[in-house]
Amino acid sequence: MLLLIPGPVQTRPEVRAAMAEDIAPWDLDFQRRYAWIRERVRDIAGGVAGVHATLPLQGAGHFVVEAAIRTFVPAGGRILIPHNGTYADRMIRLAREAGREPVVLDLPDTRGVRAEEITAALRADPSISHVGVVYSETGSGILNDPATVGAAARALGRRTIVDAVSAFGVLPFDLSAQPECDAVLFTSNKCLEGLPGIGFAVCPMERVRERAGLAGSWSFDLGDVLRTAERAGWGSFRFTPPVQALHAFGVALDFYEAEGGRKARLARYTENMRVLREGAIGLGLRPYLDEAHQGPIILTLHQPDSPGFGLQRFVDALKRRGVLISNFYNTPTPSIRIGCIGAVTPDDMRFAVSAMAGALDELGVGRRAA
Ligand SMILES: *Cc1c(COP(=O)(O)O)cnc(C)c1O
Repeated sequence: MLLLIPGPVQTRPEVRAAMAEDIAPWDLDFQRRYAWIRERVRDIAGGVAGVHATLPLQGAGHFVVEAAIRTFVPAGGRILIPHNGTYADRMIRLAREAGREPVVLDLPDTRGVRAEEITAALRADPSISHVGVVYSETGSGILNDPATVGAAARALGRRTIVDAVSAFGVLPFDLSAQPECDAVLFTSNKCLEGLPGIGFAVCPMERVRERAGLAGSWSFDLGDVLRTAERAGWGSFRFTPPVQALHAFGVALDFYEAEGGRKARLARYTENMRVLREGAIGLGLRPYLDEAHQGPIILTLHQPDSPGFGLQRFVDALKRRGVLISNFYNTPTPSIRIGCIGAVTPDDMRFAVSAMAGALDELGVGRRAA
């Protein structure tokens, strides 16, 4: 089955096979490997040895987003969140339920936030300490540029938290050039093509030390994660880690390097998107986003306005042809979402387009009518 969803993504068989071993997390061979994973991931973030640290947290991506908000935004403090998609919705809820006050900057979900919008919102409210921004909005497929947002925040003495979960490892990001950034967040899955199970924050250590103990939660205190590493070593883990997923993540990082790193992977995903988008348009389907705002991670299409079309029926018909896509959507109007990330190639996308043609025919949806 070809998995075309924006997480959990399709993985290589070698990565999945690495899960089939029993491993003791405190075994010295594993500790060395794990310490290497932390360094490797810090480097991909543009972090600097001795300045930035990789702080892992067991669980889904939302957990590490919550941990960063709790760690860096003071209790009762205010965080500006550009609101142009469902992952921003989630950040707003995580902040509110953690007792922080989200200040919502409402935007259309069809484009990224602009520098002047950040500047105006921050000028209007000097009590806002942070901007929380979603890099690749996996709801629609748009991008918010963290360098643009970061520069606007930095100019006014504010800090940022970047949810880069569906962007990290593919879209450019350089912590060393973004001193205003408290945390860039991602997981072992998505564009790094490991199995799900671990979230990561890469952070300036000095800031993490200043904020240790203030999260209002032991589990979600990144300061405590750093303290443990500094006390027990970079190969150590707080609580039981998803050790097999970590081991498989190391294998995924080896493949990342062998492919040629960030630029090579971005080139593959960009070509995946081009083939899929052009193919879908050729079938009469209409993209949700203008090309100028389309990121390379996920393609969102309007559902065809045809009595024969039903999303679950379309998903089932595609699945019978060997392609699995999401059976839900995250836009205000009915849409179809198809991921371009994971261990998938432009040839896989050509296969998916022909499967979509067959599925539309089966549903009796006029293909070139739209
Ligand atoms: C996938 C994703 C997350 C995390 O999702 P989990 O289901 O918690 O792993 C967070 N932000 C964005 C933008 C994502 O795409």
